Amino acid sequence: MNRESPNLRQIRPRRFSRIAALCLIAVAALICQSAVNLPCAMANQQQLEWKAGIASVVITPDQPMWMSGYAARTKPSEGKIHDLHAKALALEDAWGGKLVILTLDLLGITREMRDWLEKEVGRRYQLPPEALLINASHTHSGPVLHKPSESIYGDSFYGMSAEQIERSRDYTEKLLPKLADLIGEALKKPAPARLAYTHARAGFAMNRRWRLEQGYQISPNPDGPVDHDVPVLRVEDPEGKLKALVFGYACHNTTLSQYEFCGDYAGFAQEYVEQDHPGVTAFFIEGCGGDQNPYPRHGDQALRYCKDHGRALANAVESALIPRARPVAGPIRAVLDTVTLDFAEPPTREQLNEQAKSKNKYERRHAEILLDELERNGKIRTTYPYPIQVVQFGDDLTIVALAGEVVVDYSLRLKNELKGRTLWVAGYSNDVFGYLPSLRVLNEGGYEGGEAMRYTELPGPFAPSVETRVIDKVHELVKSLQTLKLN
Ligand SMILES: [Zn+2]
Repeated sequence: MNRESPNLRQIRPRRFSRIAALCLIAVAALICQSAVNLPCAMANQQQLEWKAGIASVVITPDQPMWMSGYAARTKPSEGKIHDLHAKALALEDAWGGKLVILTLDLLGITREMRDWLEKEVGRRYQLPPEALLINASHTHSGPVLHKPSESIYGDSFYGMSAEQIERSRDYTEKLLPKLADLIGEALKKPAPARLAYTHARAGFAMNRRWRLEQGYQISPNPDGPVDHDVPVLRVEDPEGKLKALVFGYACHNTTLSQYEFCGDYAGFAQEYVEQDHPGVTAFFIEGCGGDQNPYPRHGDQALRYCKDHGRALANAVESALIPRARPVAGPIRAVLDTVTLDFAEPPTREQLNEQAKSKNKYERRHAEILLDELERNGKIRTTYPYPIQVVQFGDDLTIVALAGEVVVDYSLRLKNELKGRTLWVAGYSNDVFGYLPSLRVLNEGGYEGGEAMRYTELPGPFAPSVETRVIDKVHELVKSLQTLKLN
């Protein structure tokens, strides 16, 4: 991490930085309503005119590094199955409004990284924070990214050596400017484009949460909730030639558990889509797959399963290209805000002192971290500033980008409650801090319900208000963008 990188800070709401541009649109809409048809047609045509810049960079570490996602690994990486990529898609509507989608074949992105990038691309390219959407594929076959807190607590989460911690710091420090350059590259080569949306389905994700059946704990759960939607945004040139395909799926990238770098099924899906469509850049956006795993997975045949899942997803993207494309119009309206989430009552000092004696090293480490926080601040934090981003493309597509490892209940609920609009719900966006359970998952408990908080620096679990707070905020933000509708 760059020494000058800002400390954790709340992403400030900057809702209508493009108010002037949107006012112009509103005026244009009023002219349209005055029974003059020609300007209407012109405005509609204008709404379909986009510019798109596409850039991609390899981010595979060039030396062995500790790999993220599984605590059980005992040694650094040994080579790669294929390269990891960062990709940037810069979209610009007819009024100059911008959106950059940055996708990463990595486990996550920390708030510190998001803050640094947001500030850097704001300074270098005047890109407002709400116009930057960052999503990580959550591959468990990528490098460990450095967190400033790792050095505070000495023993790293993964039990990495000092040398490995240093490599992780070095990789992260070099990655950030690379990502800023990548965004600049995409912004600097806008070409005329058209956007269109369709979707398909893929079935390899299953709910991974344990359930009790005839006295046995069983996972996965073929009857548990899933979201098999594969949303696909097509970017074409004015002649209809495909330039980029952005697609999503709600499922952990955990088919593999070996020691070679790999984007897991999402890496293969991107690879296959690009092979099937030479000249096209494929982008993967991780959905609300917090409680979803790809099956089958792990074991001797893991690589074959991984390629099969990648092919299944690439085939779903191909299927989404069969129906006639539904054009996606501008303008882009975007909002980035935070909602305050409450944690449940934190443990007392006595409870933490007891937990610090645990035989489980993660429980012990978590207790030490919270005791340290108690020592330094006199209290343990009770809230989390949770970022939510909503991007509206004309009246044609709404992307809700949620932070953290979001369980599938959120996308299912939002799609149900926002029926009538084409909704794309992404998880793992902008700040991958840990799990975001629904009230159901919180009440059921287990790993995603709160247990996994022991692998973070947060007290956890969340308070029962968590789901309502997030859902209400999404509705509020969606409404806030509607108030400036064209007609
Ligand atoms: Zn996960």
